Amino acid sequence: MAIDEGNNIVEKAFGETELVLSNYYLPKLVERLVPAIIERARKIPPFEFPDHHVRYGPENNEITVWCLSILLAERTAGLLASKSKVGHCNAHRKEPDLKPCPEMVREHLQMLRKFREDIESLVTEIKARENELKSLVSSD
Ligand SMILES: [Zn+2]
Repeated sequence: MAIDEGNNIVEKAFGETELVLSNYYLPKLVERLVPAIIERARKIPPFEFPDHHVRYGPENNEITVWCLSILLAERTAGLLASKSKVGHCNAHRKEPDLKPCPEMVREHLQMLRKFREDIESLVTEIKARENELKSLVSSD
């Protein structure tokens, strides 16, 4: 699953310490993700237009930000899903049994749903942009 793979890659890049101060360490996180981004970028066949002297491969930012954005989306979905699954709660989920907090199962699920809706809105906007640009393509 892409979500599990991306979530694991980003979690390992964060490490334990950085999880506590994740915003402070965000630049370091992105730096640590570079190998995974390059690995994914290399799996995308290059977009080559030799007649036009244009090429996009794993070394180009069009491809690297593509891979980074999908990786971070997988992380977000995986993180929210896992917190929903365990009912992550700092008030009611206590040692030793660590029973899920039912309210936080639901709250994290709602966060996951909201994230999905944001992604769907973005996809809808991308499709609209594609349709706008189609008018620039001549139909031979
Ligand atoms: Zn709770």
